Formats: sequence, C-alpha cells, structure tokens
Amino acid sequence: MFESLSDRLGSVFDRLTKQGALSEADVIAALREVRTALLEADVSLPVARDFIKRVQDKATGSAVTKSITPGQMVVKIVHDELIRVLAGDEPADALKIDNPPAAILMVGLQGSGKTTTTAKLAKRLKDRNGKRVLLASLDTNRPAAMEQLAILAGQVGVDSLPIVKGETAVQIARRAKTQAAMGGYDVLFLDTAGRLHIDEVLMDEVQAVRDIAQPRETLLVVDGLTGQDAVNVAAEFDGKVGISGVVLTRMDGDGRGGAALSMRAVTGKPIRFVGLGEKMDALETFEAERVAGRILG
Ligand code: GDP
Repeated sequence: MFESLSDRLGSVFDRLTKQGALSEADVIAALREVRTALLEADVSLPVARDFIKRVQDKATGSAVTKSITPGQMVVKIVHDELIRVLAGDEPADALKIDNPPAAILMVGLQGSGKTTTTAKLAKRLKDRNGKRVLLASLDTNRPAAMEQLAILAGQVGVDSLPIVKGETAVQIARRAKTQAAMGGYDVLFLDTAGRLHIDEVLMDEVQAVRDIAQPRETLLVVDGLTGQDAVNVAAEFDGKVGISGVVLTRMDGDGRGGAALSMRAVTGKPIRFVGLGEKMDALETFEAERVAGRILG
C-alpha cells in the first residue's frame, strides 16, 4: 500500500529533518514536493491543494521555524493533516447490524472485488461477531457470478440462498429477505449485479432492490488501484442510490493510493474496509491513523 507515495514523502522529510535550521522558504519548497507526490499518487487536485494550504498555514509560523527540531514538527503537522483528511470530521461507525436480520447491500462495478468482499465480510462477522450470515447473489446476468458467491459462502462456512433460475433481482431480494427472517439469520448480504460502467439500467436495478431490501448499510466496493476513478464512481453511486460507506480493494498492490486520500473529502463517505489480497481473511477495517502511519513509513 502506498509504496511510491511513502518513498517520495520519505525522501522529502529525510532532507527536512537532517537540515537542522529551516527557513519558511525551505518549508514551502518541501511542501511543493509533497504536493507533487500527492498528485502523482492520484489524489484529486482540490484535496491536494487544500491539504498543502492547511499544512503550510501551520508549518510556516515562527513556532516551527524557530523550534529546535523544525523538520520533525513539519512531519508531525503532515501526519496530523493526513489523519484529518483520511478520517473526516467524524469517525466511521461499526457496521449497523443490530435488529436482525440486517440487510447489507453490496454495490459496485464488475471486477471491483464485490463478490470476494461480500464473502470476506461474511467470514469476519461469523468468526469475530458470531453472527449467522446469509448471502444472496442478485447477478441475474451472470450465472457464474451467482455460483461463485455460493462457492465462496461454502468456503467461509456461511449459507447462501439457493439459486432459482429465471428470477429477477427484485424477486431474489424478496425471497432472500423472507429466508433471512424465517431462518433466524442476523445478517443478509445482497450482492448486486455489477456492470463494466455505470449506466441507467444498473442504477435502476440497484434502486429497485434497495427499496425492497431496506438495507441498514449500502457498501460500495471500488478498486483502489483505479485512483481518482474510484472516487468518481463513489460520488456517482452515492448520488444515485446513496451509499453508507466504501470498501477499497486491491490495496495490497503498489497502487498510487490517491483514492484513499480523496474519498472522504470528495464524497463525504467513509472508507469502512480495505481489501488486502485475494484470501478470505485479507480484509481490514479502515483506520486513519494506521493508514497515515503507513503513508509516512
Ligand atoms: P466482482 O466482479 O466485483 O464481484 O469481483 P470479484 O469479487 O469476482 O473479484 C475480481 C478479482 O479480484 C478476483 O480474482 C479477486 O480474487 C480479486 N480481488 C478482490 N479483492 C481483492 C483485493 O483486495 N486484493 C487483490 N489482490 N485481489 C482482489
């Protein structure tokens, strides 16, 4: 996660901390490099600009430049600002899964890692919270995707709704709700169909399913490697169907990481989890402090 961003920031801060005395011009020059590193990591321009401005306001006062360890103070200011931009003003809550059966709607584009993430979350809720979980695939266009979810459910030891050919997504959602209530499940995951692009058909279907399912959470799964695109997709899904949070996948890759930094500021929605691999336990809750620590190495 964030290797190249960390490397770039690491070398800027190495120089700053080794330099001893710092003038305002030194700080400004270093922050210009930080800004370039953020943009190269695909952080959106307004977010990068605002970030640098806030750091600069705090870091160019005499309290910093006249201190004994000015470089370290600048690094600390950047660290705190990273946490602020990652976490937003309010921390993300835990998943809302009280009042069983709680429906969780999983949405996202095809290939984002939605089905994998659904199974990972199911495993987590079963193993850590002792929840009874039911999975249902609504991807009527791709029978293989429905089977894949059933296979993953088996792997992680939770139930999946039996596949009935010829049903619409809304019909499956209805059947899943009934089954979840009758079967005494705590949590029902509805894995909606993905498409290659956002289109009206996709959004109409997700809206119809949402209205039936009345989900407690609508989690958008996006590929963290796609940088700003991931943020754009999130903004669009949020505008059309309303999302309660984001799962960023493929954060195990050496992606540019910008999506993580821009997501909250651009969409106002929290990143709830990050996917860190293909294995079923490769999922972590998103914690701003840990992520800021990783970015600064
Ligand atoms: P969907 O079309 O959105 O349901 O995507 P899938 O869940 O089928 O995932 C597509 C591919 O991405 C699969 O090969 C997954 O194993 C892989 N994948 C999903 N999440 C991650 C992740 O966090 N890291 C990595 N490296 N691969 C992932």
